[in-house]
Amino acid sequence: MNTVYIGLGSNLSNPAKQIKAAVVELATLEDCQIDKVSALYYSRPMGPKDQPDYMNAVVSLKTKVSAIKLLDALQSIENNAGRVRKDNRWSARILDLDILLFGNQVINTARLTIPHYGMKSREFVLIPLHELAGDLVLPDGEKLIELIHNIDQNGLKIFDYSLQL
Ligand code: ATP
Ligand code: MG
Ligand code: MG
Repeated sequence: MNTVYIGLGSNLSNPAKQIKAAVVELATLEDCQIDKVSALYYSRPMGPKDQPDYMNAVVSLKTKVSAIKLLDALQSIENNAGRVRKDNRWSARILDLDILLFGNQVINTARLTIPHYGMKSREFVLIPLHELAGDLVLPDGEKLIELIHNIDQNGLKIFDYSLQL
């Protein structure tokens, strides 16, 4: 069993509803059990600023499935929610599900980079993650709490606690 952390984000088509529906989808994934769910956070967009603000959350799962199988499942959930991939990076999206950490695994393949390459600099990932795992240590030995000390909160705030199953 691996403990996996997934970052969720949405800024289109009722983001709070999208994130809630995605948590329900994650809860029904085969051979996966939801462990913890963060609060729902409100955040400012990364990259292009001419897009709506975001809702974000982090979920932890316990699973026996491989990282690549989990990525397939997450991409199906994104596609079923109606996500259309655009050429411009970090543009508005209905749903984004990123694997942040997969146990203590380090993966660098064409389809997967784990730990997620951007997680250390994203307040909307680190702060909800800290809610779930205050004493988390990354595979490279870096402590989550140290990363949080150096992060700009960038307007991140808790929106509500409605995600709990
Ligand atoms: P960012 O990766 O900067 O958060 P994004 O989430 O918008 O941007 P996507 O369009 O969702 O990017 O994903 C692009 C590709 O990233 C996916 O096709 C997937 O193969 C790859 N990828 C690599 N590592 C991961 C990971 N840890 N979690 C999810 N996708 C990943
Ligand atoms: Mg992403
Ligand atoms: Mg993604």
